[in-house]
Amino acid sequence: MDHTTCGKCGGSFDASRYPRCPNCLASSWHLLPGFVTSKHDPNTLPHAYPEYHSVISKEAVANLPQFTTEVALSGEWLLNKRNDKRVYFVAIPLSSIPGSAVPKGATMPVSALDGVLVAKADEPDAHIYAVDIAQVQAGISDGTYERGKQCSVDGCARLCLPANPTCETHTSAA
Ligand SMILES: [Zn+2]
Ligand SMILES: [Zn+2]
Repeated sequence: MDHTTCGKCGGSFDASRYPRCPNCLASSWHLLPGFVTSKHDPNTLPHAYPEYHSVISKEAVANLPQFTTEVALSGEWLLNKRNDKRVYFVAIPLSSIPGSAVPKGATMPVSALDGVLVAKADEPDAHIYAVDIAQVQAGISDGTYERGKQCSVDGCARLCLPANPTCETHTSAA
């Protein structure tokens, strides 16, 4: 445990688990008009796309601020090595089913998805979609996604953003 007080919102969080304040992360997502893109919006169904895509569940979209906060509190930062963008991944069950999968050529979902991924999680075009937890975990195992490590500064228990050698506190101080 490493209780840190957020300099922005004043909330307290465990910096050995969250590299950045989860409250502020959720707030930053709430402000984005494109957080649920039409591609991943269940209210556009039935809708065919040229390739496989997933939609967020109607329940999650109906309670989006609450769902987003739960995502921020339940997820983990990963680096997508294919494009060097950071994502936020939730691999545990949430209060709503995250979403479902629409196969290539189909117009409606055929199966539920158990995980959530926020693409470009720290950028203005961050957006949320539903994923298969096992598939992302396979990507962590094969190196497609990289996890954050503990800060390399002696005695610091904080977690770093993926690919960073030091935590946010020691990175901004450097
Ligand atoms: Zn904060
Ligand atoms: Zn540190």
